[in-house]
Amino acid sequence: MKNTFIQVPAKALLLLAKVALPVLPFIFGFIFLKPKYILNYRETIQKLRIHHKALSQGPVRRYFESFFAVRLNESSQISGSCTQCGSCCLNQQCFFLEPIPEDKFQCGIYNSPFRKLSNCGAFPISGEDIERYDCPGYVLNPKTVIKIAVVN
Ligand code: SF4
Repeated sequence: MKNTFIQVPAKALLLLAKVALPVLPFIFGFIFLKPKYILNYRETIQKLRIHHKALSQGPVRRYFESFFAVRLNESSQISGSCTQCGSCCLNQQCFFLEPIPEDKFQCGIYNSPFRKLSNCGAFPISGEDIERYDCPGYVLNPKTVIKIAVVN
């Protein structure tokens, strides 16, 4: 039941993105103030196709699972820091990802308020997130269980 509930908006969003693909370079170029998305139209479309395919392999479902709080949120048990490996950015296939020195990556729209509407602002929130991308920066700490002793 939960799965069906999540699958409907996930499939609808992916379909909408697919249909809108030809105009996305203009929309993204405008809202993220990146004329290169429009000037390099063919390259942008190519990268967006790869991005869309990667999105259809789980991240959109995850987005709705988090949005509707269906997904287990273990963020209070997670520690570590990001090493900028780019793995959680659709395995380095995110359209917005930009390479930087030392084999690291940075988000090209990190400071945009629109980014907050995406999946990326909430990663990782679970052990599943960490495992999915083999994140080298964060770990899920085991829960501390305080056992109740029997008092005689
Ligand atoms: S996978 Fe982990 S370490 Fe790599 S970019 Fe994402 S959060 Fe940072």
